[in-house]
Amino acid sequence: MNIGFVGLGIMGSPMAANLLKAGYVVTGYDVSPARVERLAALGGKAAPGVVDAVAGADVVITMLPDSPQVAEVAPLVIEYGRPNLLYIDMSTIKPETSRWVAQKAAAAGVRAVDAPVSGGERGAVDGTLSIMVGGAAEDVEKARPVLERLGTTIVHVGPAGSGQTVKAANQIVVGGIYGLVSEAIVLLEASGVDPVAGLDVLAGGLAGSRILELKRHTMVKREFAPGFRIDLHHKDMGIAVAAAREAGVSLPLTGQIAQLVAAARAQGHGSLDHSALLKVVERLNA
Ligand code: NAD
Repeated sequence: MNIGFVGLGIMGSPMAANLLKAGYVVTGYDVSPARVERLAALGGKAAPGVVDAVAGADVVITMLPDSPQVAEVAPLVIEYGRPNLLYIDMSTIKPETSRWVAQKAAAAGVRAVDAPVSGGERGAVDGTLSIMVGGAAEDVEKARPVLERLGTTIVHVGPAGSGQTVKAANQIVVGGIYGLVSEAIVLLEASGVDPVAGLDVLAGGLAGSRILELKRHTMVKREFAPGFRIDLHHKDMGIAVAAAREAGVSLPLTGQIAQLVAAARAQGHGSLDHSALLKVVERLNA
């Protein structure tokens, strides 16, 4: 099976590598030529543009930063894809953009699903992502064998766009936990308690989480190499706040998390990992 892959960044690159390992023929494109070369070095095919990545593909996957990039690339996928193409957009974008893509795809005889992911770079590398899939049931089932090479939890959550709504909910929880772990570290250190020992206990109790498991040591050491950039989380909090507004619900903590992430960005930390929320909480206290 031929897979076209567009967007070979922190996530897309290891995901494409896992598809190669699974035996798929993967033709990749990214605006950064170095990223395309990296895929070619692993045995993938280099495409000079989106149209070349899409030509002859049975499945096209996009893993792009945000809605504008998907709105730019998706029409090319739909126009140049073969009839009955399966198009899986795995970027985190606005639910309305995913619905727009799905409508455009359906009108052209392309099957489209939105399949954003959670699990971070580690999950992408290990092929253990959680994947929330929106779309028609039969299209989701068609996508499942490919998605199973990328993740271990794959759930069809509803019609087109609902994968993105679930992802927005995910980002609220992830941002909130980072904020609270940051506050815990600041409290422990200000009280003269070893944060490593303190967080070890938290990680083993009811407060335990994947974030504490994976990130507590780097947070205490102030290592903030991405991972998932603050800039992207800022984008996701914008999606979450807009989704709440559209659904007509009040999410006060979501508002606060969005502001903390915005502060991290305003303080110049946009390209750091989102665990750098700790820097904002520290600055509130310095
Ligand atoms: P990234 O910025 O590392 O990768 C995006 C890639 O898309 C880059 O290589 C960029 O050059 C390329 N690109 C941009 N515009 C393009 C275009 N028009 N055509 C072709 N290529 C283009 O971002 P990432 O961390 O890999 O994240 C990708 C998506 O996955 C985002 O929506 C993000 O929110 C989501 N996500 C990221 C993580 C994470 O931990 N990094 C986790 C879950 C979800």
